[in-house]
Amino acid sequence: DRIKIGISACLVGEQVRFDGGHKRDGYIMGTLGLYFDFVPLCPEVGAGLGVPRQTMHLVRKDGTVRAINTKDASIDHTDALAAYTHAAVLQLQGIHGYILKKNSPSCGMERVKVYSLENRNVPPERDGIGIFARGLREQFPLLPIEEEGRLCDPVLRENFIQRV
Ligand code: SF4
Repeated sequence: DRIKIGISACLVGEQVRFDGGHKRDGYIMGTLGLYFDFVPLCPEVGAGLGVPRQTMHLVRKDGTVRAINTKDASIDHTDALAAYTHAAVLQLQGIHGYILKKNSPSCGMERVKVYSLENRNVPPERDGIGIFARGLREQFPLLPIEEEGRLCDPVLRENFIQRV
């Protein structure tokens, strides 16, 4: 049996991005795909946001980080994304690792931009974690997780493959 790995659905070529596009990753599909059985999930589609959809970004608000519509700060997707993450746990039973799409307010594992709610002109801090990625970490504290960008690094890649 091949090893089951969860993955951001856009990385396997599913057309689930806000603009109907994808981010198919040749290395993941061509090489890792020989060894892994992927379980693709798109948290934003799973949260009912549809394709195409308006974009969102992370915003610091009252001491917490929220995922908010980029154009209309009154539209907050955080709770829907968190609820989806909770529900997705069942689909993820038996996975040995997860590959996340970097920089996404839902899927990003680290260094996601976080904007200031009060002042949009302040440059974002790069210290955020996507809402889905954060929930995934809480639900599966010991799960090996990597981002597709970091898998280009041979040392990080080897480390991930050893751990799954
Ligand atoms: Fe890809 Fe995640 Fe964005 Fe969906 S939410 S398009 S899986 S990065």
